[in-house]
Amino acid sequence: MSDSQKFVYSFGGGKADGKAEMKTLLGGKGANLAEMSVLGIPVPPGFTITTEVCAAYYEGDKKLPEAVKPQVQAAIAEMEKLVGTKLGDPANPLLVSVRSGAALSMPGMMNTILNLGLSDAVVEGMAKKTGNPRFAYDGYRRLIDMFGSTAMGVDHEHFEHELEALKQAKGVKNDTDLSADDLKVLVEKYKAVYKAHTGSDFPQDPIEQLWASIMAVFNSWMGKKAVEYRRIERISGLKGTAVNVQAMVFGNMGSNSGTGVAFTRDPNTGADEFYGDYLINAQGEDVVAGIRTPEPIAQLDQEMPKVYEQLLGIRKTLESHYKEMQDIEFTVQDGTLYMLQTRSGKRTGSAAVRIAVEMVKEGLIDQKTALQRVNPESLNHLLLPQLDPKAKDKPVAQGIAASPGAASGKVVLSAEAAVAHAEAHPDVKILLVRKETSPEDVAGMHLASGILTSTGGKASHAAVVARGWGKPCVVGCEAVRIDEKTGTVRIGEHTVKAGDYLTINGTTGDVMIGQVATVAPSISGHFAELMEWADKIRTLKVRTNADTPIDSAKAREFGAEGIGLCRTEHMFFGDQRITAMRKMIVADDVEGRKAALAELEPFQKADFVGIFEAMDGLPVTIRLLDPPLHEFLPHDDKGQAEVAKQLGVTAQKVKDRVEQLHEFNPMLGFRGCRLPIVYPEIGDMQVRAIIEAAIEVKKKGKSVLPEIMIPLVGTVEELVFVKTRAIAEAEAVMKQEGTKVDYLIGTMIEVPRAALTADKIAEEAEFFSFGTNDLTQMTFGFSRDDIKGFMPTYLREKILPVDPFQTLDANGVGQLIEIGVAKGRKARKEKAGEHLKVGICGEHGGDPESVAFCHVVGMDYVSCSPYRVPIARLAAAQAVLAEGKTISRDR
Ligand code: ADP
Ligand code: MG
Ligand code: MG
Repeated sequence: MSDSQKFVYSFGGGKADGKAEMKTLLGGKGANLAEMSVLGIPVPPGFTITTEVCAAYYEGDKKLPEAVKPQVQAAIAEMEKLVGTKLGDPANPLLVSVRSGAALSMPGMMNTILNLGLSDAVVEGMAKKTGNPRFAYDGYRRLIDMFGSTAMGVDHEHFEHELEALKQAKGVKNDTDLSADDLKVLVEKYKAVYKAHTGSDFPQDPIEQLWASIMAVFNSWMGKKAVEYRRIERISGLKGTAVNVQAMVFGNMGSNSGTGVAFTRDPNTGADEFYGDYLINAQGEDVVAGIRTPEPIAQLDQEMPKVYEQLLGIRKTLESHYKEMQDIEFTVQDGTLYMLQTRSGKRTGSAAVRIAVEMVKEGLIDQKTALQRVNPESLNHLLLPQLDPKAKDKPVAQGIAASPGAASGKVVLSAEAAVAHAEAHPDVKILLVRKETSPEDVAGMHLASGILTSTGGKASHAAVVARGWGKPCVVGCEAVRIDEKTGTVRIGEHTVKAGDYLTINGTTGDVMIGQVATVAPSISGHFAELMEWADKIRTLKVRTNADTPIDSAKAREFGAEGIGLCRTEHMFFGDQRITAMRKMIVADDVEGRKAALAELEPFQKADFVGIFEAMDGLPVTIRLLDPPLHEFLPHDDKGQAEVAKQLGVTAQKVKDRVEQLHEFNPMLGFRGCRLPIVYPEIGDMQVRAIIEAAIEVKKKGKSVLPEIMIPLVGTVEELVFVKTRAIAEAEAVMKQEGTKVDYLIGTMIEVPRAALTADKIAEEAEFFSFGTNDLTQMTFGFSRDDIKGFMPTYLREKILPVDPFQTLDANGVGQLIEIGVAKGRKARKEKAGEHLKVGICGEHGGDPESVAFCHVVGMDYVSCSPYRVPIARLAAAQAVLAEGKTISRDR
C-alpha cells in the first residue's frame, strides 16, 4: 500500500472526490453523500475514510497506514474552510458526526456519534455563539453519552440512570423539560460516570475524540455482532467499513429546526406519494427512537412550506437520478434544509411491483430492469390473503411460519369435525388446530381456511400439504395445548373453545385470538403487467401441481401452462372414496380388489374430467398412485373398529392387514411403481379412468393432453412392466370407445439409480419429471419427515448452507439431475429421434434459486403449487436475464 494512495475522499460545497459507483471503496453512505454533493443537493461537508483503510488496519496489526493522518488533517482543514468554523475553537467551533458505513448496510456496526468537538471550553463558546445554552449543554451531554457508550464501551444505562435521577429530582417528565442549568449539572454527572467506567477523564481535545471515534468504527467491523451478521447473511468479500466524518447541522435549535426520515414512494403500497415522518426541534435518531410521536411528512408543508417544497424537489431529483425509490434522512437547521443520507428503500412485495412497473411507465427504467427489481419470493405478499394492515390485534403466541397468508376461522379440533362443520355451514370459515396432521386429515385440511399445529417444523406434513395448496399454516406453536376431550385449546393464559374464532398469520407465525380482518389477493393491474413482461422473456415453462379442478383453474388464472403433477392419491380421501379404497386394501384377492376399484373408478374419472376441462389445451401430467397403502388405514383400535364396521369385516381383519402392511421405513417401502407391479389392477383402473376421461372431454370439443407418469422407477424394467400394462389398457379403452386420444407415458426421476441409468430409462420414457423431494431424500439419506431433530443444528453449524428440501442442492442432487437430463436427452434422440421433455415437480419447482438451476440445466418446465406459479414465472425470466453470469455451485 503506497503512501501516495488516496485514503480520504472529501465531499461538500457542490463537489466531491467520490461518487455513487464507489460503494465498495466508500461504503454506501459515503458514496451517496458524495453523489448528492455533486448533484448540487445541500449536504453538510465532510469526508470519507475508505474501506481500504479498514482492510489495511486489520492486515497491518491494527495500525493505520502512515498517509491516513495527514490526509485526514487536510480534509478537516478543507471542511473548516467550507463551513467557516474551526474544530476546537471556542469562539467559532466546528462540530462533526462520525458515521460508519460499509458497502452493504449492516446491523452490528458502530452507532453514529454526534456533536463531536464539544468540550468544557467549546460548549461555553457554543452557548454564547448561539445564545442558546440549553441547546449547547444538551449537545454536550449527548456527546459524552454517545462517545462513552459507542466508542468506549460504557453501558448506556449508567448515563440513562443519571438522567432519570435528575428528572425525578426536578419533578419533570420529559427531557425537554430540563433547563440549561439542569443540563449543566447533568454534564458533570455524565463526566463522572465516564471517568468511573473508563478510568480517565472525558477527552477535551476534539482531535483525540475524533481519532478515538474513528478507531471505534474500525474496531466495530470485527465486533461480535457485525461478524455474526455477515456469517448468517453469508456476506463475504467486503473490504471493511468506511468512516464518514461530517459537519454537524442541528435540528434541535428550536421551532424552526427539525429532523426527519422519508421514502420517496410509499414502501407499503408503492404509491407515488412522499412518505415519512419528521420532528420539530429534534436531533438524530429521535424520530425513530419513539421519544416523541413524529408528524407525517405532508404536515411539513404547513409548518415549513419553503423547506417542504425544496424537499419535494430533491425527492424528484434523487429518483430521476438513481432511478430507484430512495430512503432519505434530512435535517433542517434554522430553516435551512440539509440531506444526510440516501439509499434505495426497502419495500413490500406489492410496493416493489408497483414501483417497478410505474418507473417503466415514467421512462426511468426498462422492462428488464423492472423484472430484476422484484424479488420473486416477495410476490407472496400479493398472492395470499393478508391481515388487514389496519387491524390492531396483538398476537398471543408465535409458531413457525410454514405457509404464508392470513386465515381466520372457527376452531375445529379434528379433520372429521372440519368435514362435518363444512357440510353444515359451508359459508363459515374454519381453522383446523391439531397437534400434528397426517394423510388421513387431508380432506379436513382442505376444507379449513388455515392450519395450526402445536408440533412439527417447516417440512412437517401440515406444512408441506398447506404450502402445496397455498393455504396459510403455522406449525410447531408450542404454546398451543389441545384438549380434545373438553374441546378446548389453551394458548398461554388464554383458552379458546372449539367454535371460537382464531386467526393465524402464516407469513409471520403469529396466532391471534378472534377474527382479524383480511384482504384478498388479486393478480391484476401492475402485477399482471409485470408478469406479462416476464412471460415475454422466459424460456422455461411453468406448470402447476394440482389435484382438483378448482386448484387447476386457480393455477391457470395465475399463469400455469399445464399440470406438472396431479397426485391421484389425494382423490382417494373423500368420504365414499376412502371407504372403497379401504375395501380394496383389505380385500383378500384380485377379485375383491377389482370390485373395490370399480367403485373408485367413477370418482377418479370424474376428477380427471374436471381437471382436463379446466386445463383445456394444456398438458396434464397424472402420477399413478404413489404412497404406501397403510397410509389409507387408521392405526388406532377405535378407527380400525369403525372401518371394520363400514366394510362389514371383523376388526381383527383390519388390524391384521394394518400389521401386515406395517413398514419399518415407509419412505423406502412398498410404494410408487412397486404398487402397480404387485397389484396391476390398481394401475389398470387408473389408466382406464384417465383415458376414459380424456375421451369424454375430447368429445366435448376440448383439447386434452394427458401424460401418464409412473413414480419411483429405479430400473428400466420396472418402467417397462407398468408401461406395457398401461398401453394395453389405454388401447383397449380407445378401441372400446372408438375414439383415439394422444397421450404420453413417462416417468419420475426420483431414485438416484434412475438418474444414473437415465439413458436406459429414456429409451422407454416419453418424458422425465424430476421428483426432487424424493431424490433429495434418497441422495442425502435424509427422511424428509424426520429431519427436525438435526436440520436446525445442521443449518446453525453451517453443515448445510440451506435446507436442501427447500432449495435444490446443486452440488449433489443437482449433479444427478444434470446426468439424468444429459443421458436421457441423448438416448431418447438416438432411440426415437425426439426431444425428451424434462421437468421438475418437487417443491423446488417454486423456489427461485432452484428455478434458476432448472433453467441452466435446460429443463423444459418447472411445476409448482398454484400460488407459486407467478413466483416461478418471474424467477424463470430472471434466470434468462442472469445468463452469462455463471451460476456458482457453492453458494
Ligand atoms: P444509520 O447508519 O444508523 O442510519 P447515520 O450515520 O445515518 O446512522 O446517523 C443517524 C442519524 O444521525 C442521521 O439520520 C441523522 O439524523 C443524524 N446525523 C448523522 N450525521 C449528522 C450530521 N452531520 N448532522 C446532523 N445530524 C446527523
Ligand atoms: Mg442513517
Ligand atoms: Mg416421490
